[in-house]
Amino acid sequence: MSPPSLEADCSQCAALCCVLLPFDKSEAFAFDKAGGEPCKHLNACNTCSIHEHLSDRGFKGCIAFDCHGAGQRVVQEIFAGRTWRDDPELMTRMGPVFYRMRRVHEMLLLLREAGRLPLSPIQRSEHAELTSMLEPEGGWTESSLNAFDIAEADTNVRRFLSGLRDIIAA
Ligand code: SF4
Repeated sequence: MSPPSLEADCSQCAALCCVLLPFDKSEAFAFDKAGGEPCKHLNACNTCSIHEHLSDRGFKGCIAFDCHGAGQRVVQEIFAGRTWRDDPELMTRMGPVFYRMRRVHEMLLLLREAGRLPLSPIQRSEHAELTSMLEPEGGWTESSLNAFDIAEADTNVRRFLSGLRDIIAA
């Protein structure tokens, strides 16, 4: 299986970030929105009606957000192209999976950057092990993602990255 893209492709998603994520009225968001509630600026075709004016309209938080490719993967790979629009009951299942896939992609992004460093053979081997853990053979499923210990994976990735300080400093 080829490595997943870590770049968002909104055309292959179903606006998961605009629906599943909550936000509070603040400098970053112009109003409160609960998780699972479609944003009122979201069009029926899953595009943002104020996309060109996000900053002026008080949605700098949307500009800053990046799912790192998790959204399209959840829709296309985990749910085979089905979305909360086709079946509103999918909303509750897509939420935790999107959260977890995004965490997985954040860790993969860090590991890809680390992979460009001149790692020792031991570090290269540990890097490969961590990457395999986050890119399981055959890909992720809803159940495997929900059963995955994100906190433990995060601890292991951070421990590995903190061991690279000397290489980064050099
Ligand atoms: S303002 Fe636009 S980008 Fe931000 S959550 Fe709403 S629809 Fe999505």
